[in-house]
Amino acid sequence: MTSQRTRERLIRRLQQEGIRDERVLEVMREVPRHLFVDEALSHRAYEDTALPIGYSQTLSQPYIVAKMTEALRQSGPLEKVLEIGTGSGYQTIILSQLCSQVFSVERIKSLQRKAEQKLRQLSVRNVRFRYGDGFEGWPGYAPYDGIIVTAAPEDVPEKLIDQLAEGGRMVIPIGQSYEQQLVLLTKTSTGITQRMLAPVRFVPLLPGAV
Ligand code: SAH
Repeated sequence: MTSQRTRERLIRRLQQEGIRDERVLEVMREVPRHLFVDEALSHRAYEDTALPIGYSQTLSQPYIVAKMTEALRQSGPLEKVLEIGTGSGYQTIILSQLCSQVFSVERIKSLQRKAEQKLRQLSVRNVRFRYGDGFEGWPGYAPYDGIIVTAAPEDVPEKLIDQLAEGGRMVIPIGQSYEQQLVLLTKTSTGITQRMLAPVRFVPLLPGAV
């Protein structure tokens, strides 16, 4: 169930759903998603579906991971990316293969630790992890060329906009539970432009680290 054929089927499905970025498809073909869920769920790892990772959190659906990553990369490869909501670390490892440096913030300590360990086991070395509140971003390494937020706030956090480089992009689900829009924001010299990408359903971005 975790065979190359099963993975290939997922990649074809992503293509059918409109994912065009060859590099994103290539990386998603290579990265073993089944290692990011409990063994009991690994047979479902290559279905195009979100899966539970404990603490009422979920590993995003592959289509959404692909769509967000593709949107971030639309104007070319990225150097420095900030991720809010490390969760399982699956989106993190995808980014690590496509960007020079990834900075990832998570508010649940044990998820953060587990993801950090997993990426170390997989010999990923260009990711820095932080346990903390994503509403604050990670000012120490700002500005970022890309920011990806994998939990939904009701409004775009100002501090994240501040930490985006000029010309940088942010992909973020915005809205209340069950009715969010995935939005692509671009910071230009004259302000912020916004484009709606898709209706989505993410877990909420919650304040404070626990
Ligand atoms: N990208 C993850 C998705 C995990 S679900 C994956 O593919 O596995 C969203 C994650 O955002 C959860 O782990 C949740 O704990 C985290 N989160 C929610 N609010 C946060 C905040 N304010 N700061 C940092 N992380 C947050």
